[in-house]
Amino acid sequence: MSERQLIPSALAGSPLTGGEQVAYEGVAMMPSVKVIKIGGQSVMDRGRAALFPLLEEIGRIKDQHRLLLTTGGGTRARHVYSVASDLELPTGLLAALGGYVPRQNARMLQMLLAEQGGIFMMTDDFEKLPLYFRLGCIPIMTGMPPFGYWEKPSEEGRIPANRTDAGTFLTAEALGAKRVWFAKDEEGLFDDDPKKNAAAKQLPRIGAKELLSRGLKDLIIERSVLEYLTRARYVREIQVFNALVPGNLTRALAGEDIGTIIYRD
Ligand code: ADP
Ligand code: MG
Repeated sequence: MSERQLIPSALAGSPLTGGEQVAYEGVAMMPSVKVIKIGGQSVMDRGRAALFPLLEEIGRIKDQHRLLLTTGGGTRARHVYSVASDLELPTGLLAALGGYVPRQNARMLQMLLAEQGGIFMMTDDFEKLPLYFRLGCIPIMTGMPPFGYWEKPSEEGRIPANRTDAGTFLTAEALGAKRVWFAKDEEGLFDDDPKKNAAAKQLPRIGAKELLSRGLKDLIIERSVLEYLTRARYVREIQVFNALVPGNLTRALAGEDIGTIIYRD
């Protein structure tokens, strides 16, 4: 009988369930890419009044950045969550169903930006990004992470915890980007939902852990994003800004700290 041999590698023979022993510095795949989520409910559902000026702005600045746009689902996704939830369907199915809507939004956005180089991208097409950027394209993809039936059970209720904010964040983290942008319909994060509480105050800068520990009732971003930010290796901060104000996207991408910055603390 021959002796059993291990492939000479630090992890060979390890069941991978213990602590990770091998130190590593990750390689950032495309840290220069600027991942921006175009809100579903907050921007696209508002139709042309909200979207057309933003598209014009994107067209003006697209050659100054490598933009990767992701889309949210918005009201149609909420509708399917509510119907499926009422029918007692499980989280994995809700995540699969909810994934169709942001994809529709990505297709609409692609058509609207086709003349400027908008190109529809599948969620695992990262290897095509160098080509797209070399050609001057604006890749556009759904913000929904492709978990579908493999969505993790939510802490509370049945709505998938990882929706298009989380998918956008994880996209930026996969690419090794330092900042990720969320184009929404409020000036940023407030201490309460400004649509329900006129006295709510904006928070211009806050750490993710600190924000989680505040236990705010509602947030402008999916809570899971804050959890991921606390253990991110690449993304250091997210910026939420009001995309209904012309010029805000340009300012945010130029590095101005408008809106709210949530950083890794
Ligand atoms: P999107 O369509 O981009 O996913 P959402 O509609 O899910 O955006 O989230 C944006 C909305 O979140 C805002 O329009 C605002 O009314 C609401 N919101 C809830 N809590 C807060 C908060 N603490 N600060 C700011 N906005 C909040
Ligand atoms: Mg949302």
